[in-house]
Amino acid sequence: MIKASWHPSLLRFKHPFRIASGMRAETPVVFVELQYEHITGFGEAALPPYLKGTQETVASFFSRIAFKETHHPAETEPLIEFVNGIDENNYPAKAAIDMALHDLKGKLLKKPCYELFNLDKKNTPVTTYTIGMGEPKEIIKKIKESGDFPLLKIKLGGKNDKETIRILRNETDKSFCVDVNQGWNEKELALDLIFYLKENGAVFIEQPLDKKMKDDGLWLKEKSPLPLIADESVQGIDDIEKIKDSFHGINIKLMKCGGMREALRMIEKARGYGLKIMIGCMSESSCGVSAAAQLTPLADWADLDGPLLISNDPFRGIEFEKGKIILSQKPGIGIIKVSQPL
Ligand code: MG
Repeated sequence: MIKASWHPSLLRFKHPFRIASGMRAETPVVFVELQYEHITGFGEAALPPYLKGTQETVASFFSRIAFKETHHPAETEPLIEFVNGIDENNYPAKAAIDMALHDLKGKLLKKPCYELFNLDKKNTPVTTYTIGMGEPKEIIKKIKESGDFPLLKIKLGGKNDKETIRILRNETDKSFCVDVNQGWNEKELALDLIFYLKENGAVFIEQPLDKKMKDDGLWLKEKSPLPLIADESVQGIDDIEKIKDSFHGINIKLMKCGGMREALRMIEKARGYGLKIMIGCMSESSCGVSAAAQLTPLADWADLDGPLLISNDPFRGIEFEKGKIILSQKPGIGIIKVSQPL
């Protein structure tokens, strides 16, 4: 019989950052363990403060799962249906259970998840390396810290976007993409900035406009010289249809859609519309990010540098070689627990 246990925890940022309401030095998560006979599957629910859901709502979801004698972890499909039926929402909790079930299945069958999905680990992309907003000297410091990661992700949407790009170009000739997090509020201004970014070597733009600006999104996609990737505009599979004409691709995150199975379904649907695929993460440890990494042979881009920003990661899993995602031969989601979570 499958038994669940869970542990609320705080991940500490290596570099605490400023937000409107003060400093953000740590981020809440809940780790879950599913035990079946002598095997343990690991999962993680990440709960950034700007999304709904707390450690309490996740714990309450877990406490409502009553696994039955007949449930077998190798039969992930009916199990995930069973678990998702508990609550309409609570996607981080669903994602945690989904990855723990996939981890269990992989360990039972002694195969990494990417092999269960028939994916070739040679096809992983590089991850982007995130450069957050900040004072020029902080931006320069972060660019230096990016080491041999070849693709930077620059956060824009503030008042000094062109200045930030000038600083970047003074410092490095690395490729970069841009995440605006809905920060540009006029389509003409957005288009002007996108042309400027293209001239400076940007490869794509994530979520330029507010998700509510639907007509402006259609206009922008028609005129944009760079691919536009939806993040805040897409949560789950039903959103793809709605945004397919205003974006060139989507950023899929396990915490948004509820897990690996749902992410695979989203990839298939999005490809059917000719959309590009990016796999991203929230502030997560190597547990959640290594699960997401299993799907990256199917992605054009990945934004999975989350564990690099955490100082108390209880797991080891995803690795990088000059930024390229390296998937291990370890079964399941490919992680080992190296310390007890806080
Ligand atoms: Mg984003």
